[in-house]
Amino acid sequence: MELANKHLLKTQNYIGGQWHDSPAKLPVCDPANSNMLAELADAGPADAEAAVGEAHAAFPAWKKRTAGERAAVLKRWHQLILDNTDDLARLLTLEQGKPLAEARGEILHGASFIEWYAEECRRAYGQTIPTHNRDMRLQTIRQPVGVVGCITPWNFPNAMITRKVAPALAAGCTLVVKPAAETPLSALALCQLAQEAGLPAGTLNMVVGSDAAGIGRVLTQDTRVAKFTFTGSTAVGKILMAQCATGVKKVSMELGGNAPFIVCDDGDLDTAVQACMATKFRNAGQTCVSTNRIYVHESVHDEFVARLRTAMTALKVGHGCEDGVTLGPLIHRRATERVAQLVEDTVAAGATIEVGGDFLSTGVNYYAPTLITGVTDDMRIAREEIFGPVAPVQKFACEEDVIRRTNDTPYGLAAYVMSENIRRANRLVEALDYGMVACNAGVFSTAAAPFGGNKESGIGREGGVEGMTEFYETKYCCYGA
Ligand code: NAP
Repeated sequence: MELANKHLLKTQNYIGGQWHDSPAKLPVCDPANSNMLAELADAGPADAEAAVGEAHAAFPAWKKRTAGERAAVLKRWHQLILDNTDDLARLLTLEQGKPLAEARGEILHGASFIEWYAEECRRAYGQTIPTHNRDMRLQTIRQPVGVVGCITPWNFPNAMITRKVAPALAAGCTLVVKPAAETPLSALALCQLAQEAGLPAGTLNMVVGSDAAGIGRVLTQDTRVAKFTFTGSTAVGKILMAQCATGVKKVSMELGGNAPFIVCDDGDLDTAVQACMATKFRNAGQTCVSTNRIYVHESVHDEFVARLRTAMTALKVGHGCEDGVTLGPLIHRRATERVAQLVEDTVAAGATIEVGGDFLSTGVNYYAPTLITGVTDDMRIAREEIFGPVAPVQKFACEEDVIRRTNDTPYGLAAYVMSENIRRANRLVEALDYGMVACNAGVFSTAAAPFGGNKESGIGREGGVEGMTEFYETKYCCYGA
């Protein structure tokens, strides 16, 4: 693998500031062609326990640093990531599959959390509370919660880590991170740069292993871990939450979605198509906020479908490192076959394929950008997270109808509204039971704003001021006169 900075290719686990080997090996492959990229030390539960021990030992000293001292380390880390953007993006594309331009975007987005929280930690104010008794003084102070266990997914192998690690470190916590087994190289490269930035040994630890359940049990049940934060599927999130319940651990959960994309009759169709392309086909549809159900007002349905079809035919499918490619492979064969089965079931249930609808011979895990009309709410494709480049379209007749239908799901992560009418847009934004609603936009995530879901899409928020409070305990202090 060609990288300008060869130090970024790490194949061992990062525990207590040291790189640890292991006799068992874990292959990491390019999803576009199954070529092996590297063999990693395959960590297990014992390594996770050692990592928790290091994080626990490092906590008192890191907690005692002033906000300014912690910010200085985070800013150096941020700068090193910017300096190595090209290499980090290439690593990410090779192991994850997304086009290089998107990978660069993720590296910069991921780095922005580190910069933002380096600045935010200087504002961890407590309160002085008007007293109920003149002989008492009341205050609150904020203190870091302690050791944090993190598990992250493969779809954003950089940003899903920095979105947790940056606020946790800024707050004074220490961490053990388990990245997804499919995409550990991006994650370990971040540790290398954190080490170069001067992050003290043990403050950030990373274990990569094929025994996700075993490592997960340590991070959710070890009593030295004070908080557990997870990004991944709702199914796994539920298991991990149940494990955390034994020790009443604090939890944050960023889980799956089933995002509706609503095109009103007063929506600007150019804006709607552009936004739909961005939310549906970014990362080949493998994002938690990917449009999953497209609801178009019946009066503009045919025109919207025609324009979306034109935009989709302009997608360039191929290996993410090739020039001009806008759609890469899916993460693995299992994912590709699942998407194909979902499309097959949708057609069998009576829907119509307008474009695509099959595997592509471009490589091992490619599925064609697919447009389906005549979809109904009872179909599996409308109820499950698709996680692939498939756009299923339905019609709606009125506002009340679309609100009821879009809210009829256990998920509540992101929703999209396309309307030029400010009153209607306000009504819809307020009525949709989702943690995030984007109006006339397809990309909305930023370090400055709270990201997260309602209902079974999660607990807590990442990003913004809210993202930092997840890593603090608020202590009430009462002083007698
Ligand atoms: P996943 O299967 O839930 O895996 C996520 C992480 O959990 C991986 O590191 C995985 O490890 C680990 N894991 C799996 N089973 C485990 C177990 N029993 N105990 C402990 N850890 C376990 O999800 P995914 O397929 O990687 O990611 C896609 C999902 O993430 C989608 O549902 C998507 O919507 C969601 N997501 C949500 C957000 C958000 O912000 N709400 C953001 C991104 C993604 P291995 O890789 O080693 O199996």
